[in-house]
Amino acid sequence: MILYSTNNKSLSVSFKEAVFNSLPADKGLYMPSEILSLSDDFIKHIDQYTLPEIAFEVANHLIGDDIPEADLKELIEEAINFDAPVVSLDEHTAVLELFHGPSLAFKDFGARFMSRVMAYFAQNESNAKLLDVLVATSGDTGGAVALGFLGVEGTRVTILYPKGKVSPIQEQQLTRNGHNIRALEIDGTFDDCQALVKEAFNDPELNQKLRLTSANSINIARLIPQTFYYFHAYAQLLRKGVKDVVFAVPSGNFGNIGAGLLAYKMGLPVKQFLAATNVNDTVPRFLNSGTYEPRPSIATLSNAMDVGNPSNWVRILDLFGNDKTSLQEIISAYTYNDEETRRAIDELYERYQYIACPHTAIAFLATEAYKSQHPGNFTSIFLSTAHPCKFPDVFNKEKQAAIAIPEQVKMLESRTSQKESLGTDYLAFKAWLLEK
Ligand SMILES: *Cc1c(COP(=O)(O)O)cnc(C)c1O
Repeated sequence: MILYSTNNKSLSVSFKEAVFNSLPADKGLYMPSEILSLSDDFIKHIDQYTLPEIAFEVANHLIGDDIPEADLKELIEEAINFDAPVVSLDEHTAVLELFHGPSLAFKDFGARFMSRVMAYFAQNESNAKLLDVLVATSGDTGGAVALGFLGVEGTRVTILYPKGKVSPIQEQQLTRNGHNIRALEIDGTFDDCQALVKEAFNDPELNQKLRLTSANSINIARLIPQTFYYFHAYAQLLRKGVKDVVFAVPSGNFGNIGAGLLAYKMGLPVKQFLAATNVNDTVPRFLNSGTYEPRPSIATLSNAMDVGNPSNWVRILDLFGNDKTSLQEIISAYTYNDEETRRAIDELYERYQYIACPHTAIAFLATEAYKSQHPGNFTSIFLSTAHPCKFPDVFNKEKQAAIAIPEQVKMLESRTSQKESLGTDYLAFKAWLLEK
């Protein structure tokens, strides 16, 4: 697999280099230089494959010789060890549940795959040095990364999170791991956490002593595994005789829908993608009006989508050769505020007895809007990006009581919390990293 930078198409780096750098020095994003379609035969008979089998076919097709087939198969079987079921709500509506992994969010796909790819490449080096992963998180990413790397040999993860600003379950996911995972509570904001991590990556002395790497959300090794569940969802529908599919994706940084569009470019038959955002609507405004105008983010109920300048958008533009018309043809964009989100949560519960997290509820609203504008015989699938138990404050007593608490949460409850606390001073953070 060869990758270029969206800022420089003549750049040519290996998959390994792209994984460890996360982003090119020119601040573009890495993109595969060639995206070939999977065989018609595979797509036609995809209903005969399991999720890990589909994941292997897709990953092998993209990555090629960089990871030998037997190693890739083993890596995928370890990484993608949980299901992503399509749950039918009615004849034409279904939800793709992406929250059955260890951190109960779709980011598990990216984090588990990336951790194993990094460990794989690091172990095969002659001067193998412990891989030190530094991550700043405002919640969901950190949990997925912590649990994704937990117990992965040759790696150590340090997670910085803002004190008092993550939900109780999120904090447990960050702090109750032990082993190769260290949680660092910073007395500051998410931006302070991010600034500390950034300064560490730019510190020559630290980089000489430690093998630092980021687990950045724009890493190509997080994008690739997110294509798997689109193919697998299509396979599940094919088994029911459905062929016309619309995917509605709750979007923030546009990595999830970006992976769906990559799957589409690899030959997945999709009628339409619906990009569903909260009031942070930079992309819907662009698709509807034509100007790309990022704005500072606004806090909402669906806080994992509070993004004013989506970091993966450049990738999507690149995938479509910067042709706005073809993007407008395949993506319809919808925006909803908190009041509409709450109403959607109520409606899903009343109509289907289904409890959805606020991000998921926004995607449901997009399917409703699209259906009313485009009557026809197709199935709408909205992606459920997180388990509702991660956002208890959003639900009334009745719904809270109806949420089944997953095994993953019960397991954390019996463990003790381990965290260290620091302020926002860089030198203190650096000393801590060197000392431990
Ligand atoms: C990260 C996240 C999103 C947004 O996904 P993007 O890939 O950033 O668009 C949506 N919902 C949940 C629950 C998330 O954690």
